[in-house]
Amino acid sequence: MAVENYDVVIIGAGPVGLCLSTCLSRWGYKIKHIDNRPEPTATGRADGIQPRSLDLLRNMGLKRQIMAHEPAKVYEVAFWDPSSKGGIVQTGTWASCPKFIDARYPFTTLLHQGLIERVFIEDIEKNGNTVQRPWTITGFKNDGKDATHPVEVNLAHVDGTHSETVRAKYLFSGEGARSFVRDQLGVKIRYKDPIAHVWGVMDGVVRTNFPDIKMKCTIHSDAGSIMIIPREDNMVRLYIQVASSTDKDWDPRKQATAEEVQEKAKAILKPYEITWDRIEWFSVYPIGQGIAEKYTLDERIFMGGDACHTHSPKAGQGMNTAFLDAVNLAWKIHHVESGWAPRSSLSTYESERQMIAETLLDFDARYAKLFSTRIPSAGEVAGASAASTEAEENEFIKTFKASCEFTSGFGVAYNPNSINWSSEHPAQHPLLLQYEKGTKLRTGRIMIPATVTRVVDANVVHLEQEIPLNGSYRVYIFGGALGQTATALKDLASHMSAPTSFFSNFLYKDIDATDRYHEKHNPHTSFLSLAIIINAPRAKIHIDEQLPRILARYADHVYADDVWDLRVPDAKAAAHAKVGLDEEKGGVVVVRPDGYVSAVVKLEEGSGTADALNKYFGAVTGKSLGGERASL
Ligand SMILES: Cc1cc2nc3c(=O)[nH]c(=O)nc-3n(C[C@H](O)[C@H](O)[C@H](O)COP(=O)(O)OP(=O)(O)OC[C@H]3O[C@@H](n4cnc5c(N)ncnc54)[C@H](O)[C@@H]3O)c2cc1C
Repeated sequence: MAVENYDVVIIGAGPVGLCLSTCLSRWGYKIKHIDNRPEPTATGRADGIQPRSLDLLRNMGLKRQIMAHEPAKVYEVAFWDPSSKGGIVQTGTWASCPKFIDARYPFTTLLHQGLIERVFIEDIEKNGNTVQRPWTITGFKNDGKDATHPVEVNLAHVDGTHSETVRAKYLFSGEGARSFVRDQLGVKIRYKDPIAHVWGVMDGVVRTNFPDIKMKCTIHSDAGSIMIIPREDNMVRLYIQVASSTDKDWDPRKQATAEEVQEKAKAILKPYEITWDRIEWFSVYPIGQGIAEKYTLDERIFMGGDACHTHSPKAGQGMNTAFLDAVNLAWKIHHVESGWAPRSSLSTYESERQMIAETLLDFDARYAKLFSTRIPSAGEVAGASAASTEAEENEFIKTFKASCEFTSGFGVAYNPNSINWSSEHPAQHPLLLQYEKGTKLRTGRIMIPATVTRVVDANVVHLEQEIPLNGSYRVYIFGGALGQTATALKDLASHMSAPTSFFSNFLYKDIDATDRYHEKHNPHTSFLSLAIIINAPRAKIHIDEQLPRILARYADHVYADDVWDLRVPDAKAAAHAKVGLDEEKGGVVVVRPDGYVSAVVKLEEGSGTADALNKYFGAVTGKSLGGERASL
């Protein structure tokens, strides 16, 4: 029988595998996706979607489906400590995502993993792929026998009745902590923190007179510690540490029954009372802080999610990190397979995501210590939650701030590399701007959010959400005041239309033959989506008269920077001010397909701006860009 070829074989339909499959299915790839469970997660497991992940899900058009399940939302965390009078007392609350973080959704969304998995599965099926269950992987090799599909993968039904051999361009393991692929590759897990824990997790519906049962709470009492997390459907999750390697009688296989955990919870919550109407899910499982030494050996077989990093569930990071692993790899595979980027760019998946996992594990160790050993006073908590930077910051407040930024997902910062421009980048040009030298944007960090008015329909919109996760680089042209920048914009458009520019080089081959009248995001090329933001009231912007023809083609992405913003109250053009570009002169911001800033360029008359962009995209794509002037 002929061996079937696939673009990607994905093993595991947890958050990482599903998110990767969703992106690649949408972008037209042929995926073989298997999972060894007969059904998606029925109950329990990961449940916290952090603010940055919600942004990402919105950018993927999936937020509405998640919210349709009416998840619990955590805006504040309450701290309960032993009371001098016996029992426990609330010592303070703080914002889950404090005001100093510029987040659209400053809360954690709580919903069980299985419902989230189903949202992705529906999308995958809509785009022509499916998850084949219950199937497992029995072998694989990158034998290179077929140059375009170098990886052979052997798959089998879990009951052993059927098997299948396929070939693929890539194999991805999203198998979770126990990865067959990782073991076969001989990739070791490095255990970071020698301290390991056994956790008990219980989801259920309770009756209680504990007043903060609808809040996220960390409770320390003389009888032990517990974390409470509100959930969808009137449920509550309790996390209880059952054992720690610091215990005298440490046993990583230590178990606890549901009744034992309930008794412990009752003792910790005293003088309040708690009983259970029903238990939805209960699990006791050991957690070690581990990180895979490699995420790939050959840039054909990749791993991500829990297969690469495990840590405590307390900060609700596992699923969120898995999503970001998946999106990071998805667009890079897409760019290589589209011929836009060299194969070498795939190495940035491991360097970027492994560094984030290292940061996560360091944070996880500090976080566990913070909550286990140091109980913050109400005064410290209040100081940390304020937006002001004037308060004298002690170690705790600093750790809290850094932690909140990280746990919300906004602390993710990729280092300079071939994609994230820096003064060491192979592309250099005097118009490329650095952080605090002409812009507030930092390459490798998420684009700062801004609210603007869409010119064509006068809708007030979130600029950073306007271009969906479509695999394209996003080029935001902050046009400043047209009275000053009209010539610069005309020059930019003119140099963009030169045959070997960063723009023309990637035009659709059938650009003249195919009708793309209704295409909003990618009318010229799938490589780039453009947006133009102008410092003027909406009614004063006349797209066809004021913008060069190429830019006017992005009419659905032309915005008036005329919405006042609390964070820059004195600015006339708040979006310009927030990203730190001159409100009159503007600038150009290049953002990676996953929303992280990659380069910022001055907007000037002449060829300079296009030259700088040619340099940047030339280095990113490995192509020689820039050349003579022409027009589309
Ligand atoms: C028991 C348990 C409880 C957890 N509780 C929490 C929690 O309370 N809070 C929290 O934040 N995180 C929790 N986590 C962690 C969280 O679920 C993960 O961080 C997150 O799911 C990572 O996603 P992933 O896609 O990498 O892996 P997973 O979600 O583990 O998905 C891996 C998938 O691959 C499948 N698979 C594995 N091997 C194979 C194979 N050889 N062939 C085919 N399919 C395979 C599995 O069946 C599974 O569907 C828990 C994990 C476990 C195991």
